[in-house]
Amino acid sequence: MFSVFWKKYSLLVWLGAILIMGFLATSLASYWVSRDQIRHSIIDQGLPLTGDNIYSEIQRDVLRPTFISSLMASDTFVRDWILSGEQEPSQIARYLNEVKQEYSAVSSFLVSDKTRHYYYSQGILKTIKETEPRDTWFFRVRDMKQNYEMNLDVDLANNDTVTVFINYRVFDYEGHFIGATGIGVPLESLARVIDDIQKRFNRRVYFVNNQGDIIVSAKTGELHKGSIHELPGITTIADQIINKNTQPTHLEYENAAGRIMLSSRYIPEFNWYLVVEQTEDAEMAKVQQVLAGNIAISALVTALVLLLCLYSVNRFQRRLENVAATDSLTGLLNRHAFELMFEQAVHETHRAKTPLSMILLDIDHFKTINDNHGHLTGDRVIMRVARLLENSLRNGDVLCRWGGEEFLILLKQTSLDAAQGVAEKLREVMAAEQFQLGTKTLHITGSFGVAEFGGVETLVHFFARVDRALYLAKSAGRNRIEAVK
Ligand code: GH3
Ligand code: MG
Ligand code: MG
Repeated sequence: MFSVFWKKYSLLVWLGAILIMGFLATSLASYWVSRDQIRHSIIDQGLPLTGDNIYSEIQRDVLRPTFISSLMASDTFVRDWILSGEQEPSQIARYLNEVKQEYSAVSSFLVSDKTRHYYYSQGILKTIKETEPRDTWFFRVRDMKQNYEMNLDVDLANNDTVTVFINYRVFDYEGHFIGATGIGVPLESLARVIDDIQKRFNRRVYFVNNQGDIIVSAKTGELHKGSIHELPGITTIADQIINKNTQPTHLEYENAAGRIMLSSRYIPEFNWYLVVEQTEDAEMAKVQQVLAGNIAISALVTALVLLLCLYSVNRFQRRLENVAATDSLTGLLNRHAFELMFEQAVHETHRAKTPLSMILLDIDHFKTINDNHGHLTGDRVIMRVARLLENSLRNGDVLCRWGGEEFLILLKQTSLDAAQGVAEKLREVMAAEQFQLGTKTLHITGSFGVAEFGGVETLVHFFARVDRALYLAKSAGRNRIEAVK
């Protein structure tokens, strides 16, 4: 069963396999190239550019407040007012209010090291204590080496506004530390940039401190909370993120959302890390769609090509079979095909126990037609007789051109008597037919030999008996029928 199938369709199987492999190879190759390009463009361009944008926003936003705070720290009025014993807090409050108004700051402040008073635009806010966690910044500033620090905080009272506080050290004229001053400004543009990036590029932006805690992320979208040492997937690369490297570090990790590409860099101004993340999904989905489309088109083309081949192969095969089975002049079955049909008819006869008869027909004096009218006319007569016989027989009867101008007719389920009747009808039809050939009209007759199948004889033997009957018909004067038992 399989071997028959293989013999007939091996060409199609090979062709299909080659087409499918070819299409798959090109589709997958272009898919992989696109995937790598997307990854590279995300890692090498998209994420670092986003980081650069945010970083330059940060620098722009903190530049002016830093300058203002430095002016405040070196302002002789501020220093003199502290050194002269912090008389009349309303004076310094007015000064701080002026600064706050002028530079649209969230707050402005001055803390004296001597009295530990915290002055703001309204006067004295409080007295700071070393034990109070919210005041630790002052003691940090007092003890630090550099002149100022930046402290970034989410101002809960101000709609989660990211606020940067610049804490500047104040010195007396001999260089002794006497306090800290500065302003707090909202990092609005930073928040805006982060939001915009999250929305437009589907990238996540957040800041992580030295301990790995996520400090700031966008207002909109998914808000990160917790530590990168605990979040699924990212824990594996947490140590690589916190590396004090001001150059972008490219990293990748995987979690439930898929593969995530990440760029992180150290922001020395805040002592924080800026992290930009992107899943490859959004871009990959497009490439995957293209891949699916390519495969669908390839499958369709393969199917069409195979169908076309199947159709051509079948048609060609059928034509070969026809050529092998039919006579080229008349289109009737040839001798070879007739032998096969005979075998089949014998099987049927044995199974159904029905009679089987044969008629052998030979055109009378055909040589004369050839001699008088030419060989081509002879051919045309043979063709016309073939059509005439075909039209006069039943569908199940097997008509064959046995050779020359001889025809053999196999009549299934037909006894000798009935076969003689059929032969008589054919003889009459032939004799009555006027063969119009050009300007001439010919009358043609045929002689018929008839015999019934003996049940066990071979085709050769059976044929010999029919041939003898035909010989009798010819001998008895032609245009007649003879039957043999
Ligand atoms: P009869 O059968 O009545 O005894 O006389 P006949 O002239 O028909 O004699 P016979 O059957 O022996 O000769 C058949 C002739 O038919 C001989 C041959 O030249 C011719 N013939 C055989 N095949 C073809 C053919 O395909 N085309 C043509 N035009 N003639 C053919
Ligand atoms: Mg003959
Ligand atoms: Mg003849």
